[in-house]
Amino acid sequence: MIKEAASIITCHDCDLTQTMRYSPEKGSVRCSRCAAILRKRQRIKPEKNIEHTLALVVTALLLFVIANAFPIIQLKAEGHELAATLMTCVHFLFTHDMVLLAGLVFLTCIGAPLIQLTGLLYILLPLHFNHSPRFAPPIYHLVRNIGFWSMLEVLMLGILVSIVKLSALATVIPGIALWTFGLLIFIMAAIVNDLDSDILWRRIHPSIQNENINISSTEHALINCHHCDLLCAVSRQDNTQCPRCNSRLYFRKPHSQSRSAALLLAAMIMFIPANVLPVMVITSLGKTEGDTIMSGVIHLAMYGDWPLAFILFVASICVPLLKLLILSMLLITVHIKSQWRPKERTRLYRLTEMIGQWSMVDIFVATLMAALIQIQGLMTIEVGAGAVAFGAVVVLTMLAAKAFDPRLIWDNKEKSNE
Ligand SMILES: [Zn+2]
Ligand SMILES: [Zn+2]
Repeated sequence: MIKEAASIITCHDCDLTQTMRYSPEKGSVRCSRCAAILRKRQRIKPEKNIEHTLALVVTALLLFVIANAFPIIQLKAEGHELAATLMTCVHFLFTHDMVLLAGLVFLTCIGAPLIQLTGLLYILLPLHFNHSPRFAPPIYHLVRNIGFWSMLEVLMLGILVSIVKLSALATVIPGIALWTFGLLIFIMAAIVNDLDSDILWRRIHPSIQNENINISSTEHALINCHHCDLLCAVSRQDNTQCPRCNSRLYFRKPHSQSRSAALLLAAMIMFIPANVLPVMVITSLGKTEGDTIMSGVIHLAMYGDWPLAFILFVASICVPLLKLLILSMLLITVHIKSQWRPKERTRLYRLTEMIGQWSMVDIFVATLMAALIQIQGLMTIEVGAGAVAFGAVVVLTMLAAKAFDPRLIWDNKEKSNE
C-alpha cells in the first residue's frame, strides 16, 4: 500500500505555501505554481538512506585519493615523457604567477569535493552508530554550500577536450586517474541525488520536526528554512534563526537586487578582457602566438574539429552571454515590478543556476595543456591573462545568480491579486 504523507511546505522559488502529498513510491513532487521540485523522488528506502549514502561516501573518498595520486594524462613527444596530476596543474599555475587561478582550480576540483566528502563522512558515520555528531548543523551547512563550487564533471569535459587537442601534438596515454575520475563523478552525483536531507535532519535533531511547529500566527510568513527545510514562521520585519540548524531565516534574501546587480555589473566589465586577452599563449620554435576564446574555437573549426569547436563555443561563449542576459532581464523586470510570465522567468533563473559552471571548461583546458606542454626549445604553453578574467566572469555570474532571490519575481503577482 502506498503511504502518503501530507505536509505544509513553502516553495523556495515562488514562496507559495501549499499542501504537499509525498510518497516515496510516487516520485518527486513539484510546486503547483512554478513547477520547482519540492521533494525529490527517493529510490532508496528511508530506513536505509543513511547507510546507503555512507557507503557511497566511503567509496567516493577512496576514488578521490586514487584520482589525485595518479596522473590524469601522460604524453610522449619527441623522446620526452610528460605526466600531469591535478595537483601538478595547480602547482604549475601557482608558480607561474597565476595565484588566483590556482586557487579557483584548487577549490573547484580538489578542495570543494574533498570538504563535501569528509564533511558527510563526519556526519554520517556517527549517525550510523546512532550518535548525533557534534557541530552537525554548521558542517552540513558547509557541505551544502561548498557543493555549489564542486565542478568535477566540468573538469572531466575539460580533460576530454584537452586529450583531443593534445593528440594533435603528441601521443596521449589516458592515465589511471582519468578512469577513476569518471567513476567518481557518477558516485558524487548519486550521493547528491540519494541523500534525503529530511531523513538526515530527523536523525540529527529528532525532537525538532515540521509537525511540531506552531503555524497559526498571522503576523508571520511561513517559510521553509533554506538549509534544513524546516517549516518556520518568520516575521516580515526582522530576521530570526532556524531552531533546527541555526541558520538565519530571511523572508527575502537581504539586499538581493543590489548585491546581484553589483556582481553582474562586475561580471560584465570582466567579460571584455576575458574575450580580448589570450587564454593560452603558445610558443613554438621561437614563434609566440596568443589564443583568445573565440580564436581558439575558430582554429578548432578550421582544422575540422567541429564537435569540439561546437562544445567550446556553447560552453565558453553562449553560456556566459546567456547568463549575463538572463540575469539582467530578471533584475530589470523585478525592478520595474513586471508581472510578465513569472513561471517562465523562474525557469530561466533555474537554468542560469544549472549551466553556470560549464563555462569553466576553457580554463581547465588551458591549465591542463600548459601544465603538460613545457618542452623547452620545442614548445611551451602558458595560461594567458584572459583566463584570469574569464574565471572572474564565471565566479561573479555564479555569485550574482546566488544573490538573486527568485521569490521577488512572484511578489508583484501576489500584490496584484490582493
Ligand atoms: Zn513554486
Ligand atoms: Zn534550518
